[in-house]
Amino acid sequence: MPKNKTNDSNRLSQVVADARRHMQDREKTYREKALKMYPHVCGRCGREFSGKQLRELTVHHRDHNHDNNPPDGSNWELLCIYCHDNEHGRLEVAESYDNHSPSKEKSADSDFSHKPFAALEALLKSKGGDDADH
Ligand SMILES: [Zn+2]
Ligand SMILES: [Zn+2]
Repeated sequence: MPKNKTNDSNRLSQVVADARRHMQDREKTYREKALKMYPHVCGRCGREFSGKQLRELTVHHRDHNHDNNPPDGSNWELLCIYCHDNEHGRLEVAESYDNHSPSKEKSADSDFSHKPFAALEALLKSKGGDDADH
């Protein structure tokens, strides 16, 4: 019956909502802990944050594992959103340097693109001239 189906999908979305809320709770919790534990200063640029500006201060995970949240805060570092961006941006750059090998040599192909039969044509022409004398 449609009634049962509706109940099922309601339950499913309830589960999803719970999981999402749980994740947000956990994120909020470690952020609050980190903010209590550390001075409200960006670990890179040294800017101080207070009041509404605190939103710009984020928790960076030193080992980049967001599930690694030791209670002593040893995996956390407070960074402003700009420095946090930089921190991850630099890693992405480093990774892309590792993944992409130096640019490929393409010069070998270019010789073939320009009149490949020019020499042969000239050879045939001169030979034809010799034949005409007979
Ligand atoms: Zn900063
Ligand atoms: Zn981070």
